[in-house]
Amino acid sequence: MKNIALLFMIAIGLYGCGSVPITGRQQLNLVSDSEVLSLSLQEYNSYIQTAKKSTNKTAEALVEKVGRKIAGAVESYFKVTGQEALLSNYKWEFNLVEEPQVNAFCMPGGKIVVYTGILPYTQDETGLAVVLGHEVGHAIAKHANERMSQQIALGYGETAIGAALGKSSATVQSIGSIVYGLGTKVGVTLPFNRKQELEADHLGLVLMAIAGYDPNAAIPFWERMSQQGGSALELLSTHPSDNTRIAEIRKELPDAMEYYNAIWGNGAPVSAPSGSSKGDWHF
Ligand SMILES: [Zn+2]
Repeated sequence: MKNIALLFMIAIGLYGCGSVPITGRQQLNLVSDSEVLSLSLQEYNSYIQTAKKSTNKTAEALVEKVGRKIAGAVESYFKVTGQEALLSNYKWEFNLVEEPQVNAFCMPGGKIVVYTGILPYTQDETGLAVVLGHEVGHAIAKHANERMSQQIALGYGETAIGAALGKSSATVQSIGSIVYGLGTKVGVTLPFNRKQELEADHLGLVLMAIAGYDPNAAIPFWERMSQQGGSALELLSTHPSDNTRIAEIRKELPDAMEYYNAIWGNGAPVSAPSGSSKGDWHF
């Protein structure tokens, strides 16, 4: 038991820490990005081949428009903060899928899917930006990687940690299938935890602000979501209660508004909050 604990501590010390963009939270990160991306891509490809694309061209164009603006915000943020390399494997894709569930997701690597069932709740372009900001927030915070790492740390002990450090794809794949629920109908969603949900909300507010959407729109959106029986987006997430979620969003709004006012104060990008030059922000 001692050996396992020791190995675990060494593992964390050598390999296992990362920090979340924007919030700066330290997180457990035992699986390589390339492993997570390749798993996600496999899952995405098998899902999207059978998914029924929406025939509503107007709504589809709106998903694409908002998706591109949120993706542009991510790219700008990473460029301004000198972390562009972290997005080198991202290839953004935006899909509107005919599905009555109130749901949306963004897989690691930038594959975004919105279900038509959420459109009555998003209502307009800014409402959609709340959802896509949240989903893209999960992706750039590497929440999938963190969940897989927690599974390794909690349930798999020495062998799995050793394998993860050695990047054995068989072990990582088996962990991935637990975290992702591969092969099931809901396999594209991840069981994010409460802390990750609130963090995705925070990141979403900042991303939508950078993209030029008023983050205050998050409050009425989550209120509409709470009226439909609980503000969960991804099906398997252990979501915070509606009151907690909305209260936390209220606390984070001033931070997001700093970005919004600094960049879009005069109706056009002016400067980054850090004082970076105008040209760094592109959309
Ligand atoms: Zn979420």
